[in-house]
Amino acid sequence: MAIQPIRLFGDPILRTKAIEVVDFDKELRRLVQDLTDTMLDAPGSGLAAPQIGVGLRVFTWNIDGEVGHLVNPLLDLSEETQDGDEGCLSIPGLSLDCRRALTVVAKGFDMYGEPVTIEGSELLARAVQHETDHLDGILFVDRLAPELRKQAMKEIRESEWFGASGSPMIKVSPHPTRGLGL
Ligand code: ZN
Repeated sequence: MAIQPIRLFGDPILRTKAIEVVDFDKELRRLVQDLTDTMLDAPGSGLAAPQIGVGLRVFTWNIDGEVGHLVNPLLDLSEETQDGDEGCLSIPGLSLDCRRALTVVAKGFDMYGEPVTIEGSELLARAVQHETDHLDGILFVDRLAPELRKQAMKEIRESEWFGASGSPMIKVSPHPTRGLGL
């Protein structure tokens, strides 16, 4: 078990585009393990590498008792959409209605470099879209309807974890970021 601190809204790594994984080595497998452990401990339905301070295109998901991961994802989204509550481990306590594609076909690799395809709808599709957004520095509050987004930013500003001074409280991981100076 290697549970890592989860970076919170305000941490610049959450706004940084993550880079493609090139080496499918044991460091990557450790990252997938850390993501899985941290996600299950939270508990959460998904977790992307930037959320634990690593700027690589990797995420894990945990939907309906099934746990998986995906490296270097490429998404194909359905035109049909779904509405439903969405939250984020990096924005504690916030859950708001967010429109997403209803189904997704996600192509990428597993931690051994083997090509994999995830096909999902509803919750799995939502998680895959949310986590892939994290890899592009996008947060779910960016996807909200304008009025809800305003409400979200207000709730974030007033939240305890964001810091009473109005400046974001940045939690710094005590662990090395695997050579990435991010
Ligand atoms: Zn999130």
